[in-house]
Amino acid sequence: MTHIISIINRKGGVGKTTSALNIANYLSKEGNSTLLIDLDPQGNLSNSIIDKAISNTIFTLLLEECSLKDVLHEVNQNLYLIPCNEYFARFEKQFAGETDGQYLIKDLIDAVSTFPDIPQFEYIIFDCPPALGLISINAMVASNFVVTPIEAQQFSLDGLIQVENEIIKINKRLNPDLKLLGIFFTRHNYQTYLSRDMKEHLSGKYEKQLLKSSIRRNVALEEAPSLKQSIFEYAPDSNGAEDYKNLTNELIYRIKINTDK
Ligand code: ADP
Ligand code: MG
Repeated sequence: MTHIISIINRKGGVGKTTSALNIANYLSKEGNSTLLIDLDPQGNLSNSIIDKAISNTIFTLLLEECSLKDVLHEVNQNLYLIPCNEYFARFEKQFAGETDGQYLIKDLIDAVSTFPDIPQFEYIIFDCPPALGLISINAMVASNFVVTPIEAQQFSLDGLIQVENEIIKINKRLNPDLKLLGIFFTRHNYQTYLSRDMKEHLSGKYEKQLLKSSIRRNVALEEAPSLKQSIFEYAPDSNGAEDYKNLTNELIYRIKINTDK
């Protein structure tokens, strides 16, 4: 069974890409065959993995200009990436008018699962752009779960409520099974009053959704991508590695509970 997760927040700079990269790396390190899909035209995830210019992307694949084999980039034995670049910003314009415009990524995932000579993925992770437009809708239609990183410093409940409302809308017609798996703090600083206060505030209102694990502010998490490494390669003893290990284990546990039901 494949568990498909969208990492979503309308805000930029909250740690979506850092989380997608390191959650996927931890999953693969633990022996789970994992596929990362970059859906942000900024291409930050792709550039933190691939060292050269990228021509075959999720977009050229959707336009049928290349095949799945051309875009599947092997990161390590258990981890693959489908990259993205700035041309993906045309996605909405290109596909908005099509009757199946919300199902394009879902169809692609179905194709991945039947494609010969590639692994059966246990986890697929979408790194979404900082908007709830057609790209994120496609990701949510194709997903079982949404995971939302939030930052205490610039946190507003609005962003989270918008994600929840979007899930409710998607549940009505496009994907009744989509669930908010969890929200968690990134770039967290336990020292500041605001951060502690926010965590207390949220654990009341979002008791069920708030994950116990938070990701602390950690400079190694910022440095690793420029060397095309995950935190587990770049600084395995760092706070960042410890936090992403705990977070991912918590996510695995929640997925298990949700899927066993
Ligand atoms: P998003 O994908 O939501 O825009 P990113 O993951 O790209 O956010 O993070 C934005 C910036 O913050 C990046 O420069 C990243 O390296 C840095 N960053 C992310 N998480 C942390 C952290 N826990 N500690 C320090 N820096 C972080
Ligand atoms: Mg990003």
